[in-house]
Amino acid sequence: MSEVFKGSFTQQEAIPEAGIEAAIRVMRHGRLHRYNTVPGELSETALLEQEFAQSVGAKYCIAVASGGYAMATALRAIGVRPGDRVLSNAFTLAPVPGAVAAVSAVPVFVGVTPSLTIDLDDLEAKSGDAKVLLLSHMRGHICDMDRLMAICNSAGITVIEDCAHTMGAAWKGVPSGRFGTVGCYSCQTYKHVNSGEGGFFVTDDAEVAARAVILSGSYMLYERHLAAPPKEAFETVRYETPNISGRMDNLRAAILRPQIAALATQCARWNALYRRLESGLRGTPGLEVIERPEQETIVGSSIQFLLTDWPAERIRDVIARCAARGVELKWFGAREPVGFTSRYDSWRYAPAAPMPASDRILDGIVDMRVPLTFSEEDCELIARIIRAEVGAVWQDAA
Ligand SMILES: *Cc1c(COP(=O)(O)O)cnc(C)c1O
Repeated sequence: MSEVFKGSFTQQEAIPEAGIEAAIRVMRHGRLHRYNTVPGELSETALLEQEFAQSVGAKYCIAVASGGYAMATALRAIGVRPGDRVLSNAFTLAPVPGAVAAVSAVPVFVGVTPSLTIDLDDLEAKSGDAKVLLLSHMRGHICDMDRLMAICNSAGITVIEDCAHTMGAAWKGVPSGRFGTVGCYSCQTYKHVNSGEGGFFVTDDAEVAARAVILSGSYMLYERHLAAPPKEAFETVRYETPNISGRMDNLRAAILRPQIAALATQCARWNALYRRLESGLRGTPGLEVIERPEQETIVGSSIQFLLTDWPAERIRDVIARCAARGVELKWFGAREPVGFTSRYDSWRYAPAAPMPASDRILDGIVDMRVPLTFSEEDCELIARIIRAEVGAVWQDAA
């Protein structure tokens, strides 16, 4: 009898009790809108912003409706105009090129390396093509940020970081989201904190922060923020910047505050699960584990491996065999998208020339979510199942 895994790949943990209680308090008093406060009251949203800013060492933070909203706001706040070109990853998820499209700008896709990070040689080659890079730390893989920033600084490119998969992660000890002008994070259920929907925008630039506050829909109530720039920063910005509503509310903020406080502990738990999976998969014939550089502080909330140069039908076979044993893998490289899109050629509103070297990598990427409802034993079992099924298909091919 072969082993079967019975857990759910989409089941996250419950909201911490402190978050549930805080949310109930907000519902009892009824002041859910972030600017609906009684005299002397600090809103949950304003406190959350202050706490998140502190946690990543940013001067300013704005809590918003989603990660996608944070990215579009970042592009607007740094002055991207319709028709401008924006460099971004060929391998990421749909909200990233979607944020570029939201401001009627044009994505210019940069290739992916076998480490699943942005191809810095390709970035360098395309660095004359655009003045902005929307960099996605897709699936938590952080590229050599020193080299990336050197390329962008010398080409005059403003960097926005998409940290949907790197909240809590770092490069050489510097939190992800703190290299570029703006860092954007998601609080959506499948990311590292869970308020259903939500996002953060962080920056040290007072003018960019002031624009983001107004864009998010602050009306003229920006003085009620605790992590916004001083009111002088709003002097002209407030007349020139449209309100494109996308605020966070106090109910979500109440749910999030204890999760931000517990983030480091949660990240350590994710990494313990990740390392079990990684060591269980390492050495499987035909399968490449993605080696993580030592400069990277990871958050292993998902794991990827490569089945490079495998024919499509054999990859499908692996996915199906694992699914039959309860292990839900996603083939990110599928040419025909199912459920999600993660490759540049799926976004046909933004045509791009083919990138054969990237295609070879994309074609072989297999992904698995690692929810914290799994135990370390679960991860060992999952790795045994993948190892056995990849092995079986590999042997058939030999
Ligand atoms: C989820 C996600 C986002 C955006 O998050 P939302 O909060 O769902 O808008 C951005 N980038 C990547 C890579 C994501 O996976």
